Amino acid sequence: MSLEGKVAVVTGGSRGIGRAICLRLAAIGAKVAVNYVSKPDAAQETIDLIKLEGGEGSVYRFDVADSAEVQDAFKKITDDYGRIDILVNNAGITRDGLLMKMKDENWDQVLNTNLKGAFNCIKAVSRVMMKQRSGRIVNISSIIGFVGNAGQANYAAAKAGLTGLTRSVAKELASRGITVNGVAPGYIVTDMTSGLSEEVTSIIKSEIPMGTLGEVEDVAGAVAYLVSDDARYLTGQFLHVNGGMFMG
Ligand code: NAD
Repeated sequence: MSLEGKVAVVTGGSRGIGRAICLRLAAIGAKVAVNYVSKPDAAQETIDLIKLEGGEGSVYRFDVADSAEVQDAFKKITDDYGRIDILVNNAGITRDGLLMKMKDENWDQVLNTNLKGAFNCIKAVSRVMMKQRSGRIVNISSIIGFVGNAGQANYAAAKAGLTGLTRSVAKELASRGITVNGVAPGYIVTDMTSGLSEEVTSIIKSEIPMGTLGEVEDVAGAVAYLVSDDARYLTGQFLHVNGGMFMG
């Protein structure tokens, strides 16, 4: 599996799953545009790690929820690298709370980042990929988008929305040689899950047939497959990386 000569954009690449995806794609030859929104040092650390392994990449600051910023950033990336072959929509946030108490702003922030953010980036990259008549788009969803979760109506709605977005755009872009797929992680060890109490973590583990949380590299491996030539005939699909917790 080689991505030599390819250019990849990964949103939210400064830490967690996004950073692991950046490192994996760079390790197999892609030049990586690492997006961040608020932590330049963390994003630069991702680049330093890429370079340490002999890879190539640069950082780009933009808020995925802001369509004007996204348009400008994708134009700059295209100018800098001459092309974009891979887009991974990884940026995501949680603002948990029971529906009865959920503030409008918490609904809006999660939908704007997790769903509209992916729409903004796909829209910005699709023109470039259509001209190239090739491309790979991967949307990072979640098991919660498929099974729902009390206290996460906003997050589940946004991630379920990604399913419709992925499948619709897959149909729109298939004839141009562009595939659009998703990866739906279960519970993965990152900052997002580190806030869970020991009690909640042990309940979650008891519901995972493999008995353990996943690692960021498990998600990165699935993304690497979907953007490779091996996956050229696969579009509109989701890979469920969850230790058997949900079998989609
Ligand atoms: P994380 O909180 O560690 O990282 C999220 C990244 O997104 C950060 O780099 C953050 O800066 C970035 N981001 C947030 N808002 C942004 C914005 N508006 N513009 C640009 N970047 C923004 O989380 P993570 O666990 O690494 O999650 C990565 C993705 O995987 C998310 O989409 C998340 O929903 C999904 N996911 C995570 C898990 C898990 O167990 N950790 C499970 C299922 C799905």
